[in-house]
Amino acid sequence: MRDRPSPNQNSRDEPSRIDMLVLHYTGMATAGVALERLCDPRARVSAHYVVEEDGVIWRLVPEHRRAFHAGVSCWEGESDLNAVSVGIEIVNPGHEWGYRRFPEAQMAVVELLCRELVARHTIPPHRVVGHSDVAPQRKSDPGELFDWARLARAGVGIWPPRSTPHTGLTVSAAQSFDDLASIGYCLSVDLQTPALVAFQRRFRPSCCDGQLDIETAARLTEVRRAFARSRAATSSASHTSKLKAVCSPCK
Ligand SMILES: [Zn+2]
Repeated sequence: MRDRPSPNQNSRDEPSRIDMLVLHYTGMATAGVALERLCDPRARVSAHYVVEEDGVIWRLVPEHRRAFHAGVSCWEGESDLNAVSVGIEIVNPGHEWGYRRFPEAQMAVVELLCRELVARHTIPPHRVVGHSDVAPQRKSDPGELFDWARLARAGVGIWPPRSTPHTGLTVSAAQSFDDLASIGYCLSVDLQTPALVAFQRRFRPSCCDGQLDIETAARLTEVRRAFARSRAATSSASHTSKLKAVCSPCK
């Protein structure tokens, strides 16, 4: 890991609370240009880590500090996600400069880094998101070529198994709105299509056209259930630890 300190950081209100991981692509022509911008005080953007295509990791901002990566964003009704998250920029030219697959050398390092962060900060699966999930009207990263399934197999984030949608399934805009909100997307009427595109990029990457087809509707149900299971497991785990804390003096 190499250090390249960025001035684009400030203090976290609650340094002990880091419970979210936000993944990005750099979306710039080269890694060098991206690193320069992420360290340029005039740009006011940064991330904690940058992972190059050959797997080199740069540390720009210490984790206990607030990096400027998520911008105007929202998840589960909460904004100022920079205050509670770690941000990783994954080098890729992005949709603007020639979006391409993330090489194996890069993905292996991203997987290792994410596993370590999730374990050390106890970040639950439903709090691992892409930038497009938390800013769907502005962002498309890390995009539909990013291998979320691989990360989920490593215990990072959520990727429920896909089932074949049954033909009797009805497609309802109201239900999809409800599903997206239950998963964590922050919605208003004008955000529903961008949020659906963000959902498709992440969970149904073969087609991200913002259309509510049967496959998308079925996937929404699967993903909603998986997020609910993750939240239930997390709240029961914290409940158990609280009970232990209360009961330990009784021994
Ligand atoms: Zn981003």
